[in-house]
Amino acid sequence: MTTHLSSQVNHNVSKVRVKKRFVAGAKCPQCKATDSIVLFKEHGVETVECVECDYRDQQTEEQVAAKATGDVIGVFKP
Ligand SMILES: [Zn+2]
Repeated sequence: MTTHLSSQVNHNVSKVRVKKRFVAGAKCPQCKATDSIVLFKEHGVETVECVECDYRDQQTEEQVAAKATGDVIGVFKP
């Protein structure tokens, strides 16, 4: 019995254009360049990346929520 796995599943995923925005005043902890840090979401995780070197870091949802980026819908606990 042969199982036909669809290889097209990943097609759309790889075509997704990730919106990256520069973080004003941010300094790369690795190469010390300023205004080289971009912020974008990768698989729903806030990710920061340096365009000058290969530095990258990902923030947990808790950290993101604390910064209130705008897409966080209020989850207040009484
Ligand atoms: Zn850097």
